[in-house]
Amino acid sequence: MQIGATMDLLTPLLADITDDGLSLVGEVTAEELGLTDDDAAARGPLAVSLDLTNVEGLVAVTGVLEGTILRECVRCLKQYEDPLAFSVRAAFIPEPKPASKHPKRVDPRKAREEAAAAEEEEDLDDQYQYQGNRLDLAPMLREHVILAAPMQPICSDECLGLCARCGKNLNEGPCQCAAEPPIPTFRVVQSMKRKTGGSSAS
Ligand SMILES: [Zn+2]
Ligand SMILES: [Zn+2]
Repeated sequence: MQIGATMDLLTPLLADITDDGLSLVGEVTAEELGLTDDDAAARGPLAVSLDLTNVEGLVAVTGVLEGTILRECVRCLKQYEDPLAFSVRAAFIPEPKPASKHPKRVDPRKAREEAAAAEEEEDLDDQYQYQGNRLDLAPMLREHVILAAPMQPICSDECLGLCARCGKNLNEGPCQCAAEPPIPTFRVVQSMKRKTGGSSAS
């Protein structure tokens, strides 16, 4: 089964994940993923292609996310377009039911400890929770986009960076610093002062 509309693309119904799984193909915008320019400045929408399977409430999501992110080169400080394509892997588990389901009296301290332990267990990478009958894929995809960012973005391996002296972007050509010798020498041309002689012909 396939769903195209953006709303359903990011919040699929559990009921739509049949035994054959569910394929989600479409485009999402950075806003729909909750991405701000501080996270990653996306240029245009991101293409999403995901396959979902549901095994007794555990929903596995695999697929690909593609798009273009604007980054700033750490060497030359210029913005460049970084084509992005990476695989997505995540698991969604149902949010645990509150302990009040048990008729027995619950020791609040013990309940808190259990909740903390459960939280730790679920704090695994790429594991998310869902509530009710829908998944919310946006936070998971947003995280994937953020984690795909390089620590030291570089516009090109050949990027020459900026001149440490004059700050010129050396990718745009050499600056004058390289041509000039480190210690400039000045040739002082002194004009000879001609003394006007006192001798006068009369
Ligand atoms: Zn650069
Ligand atoms: Zn320079």
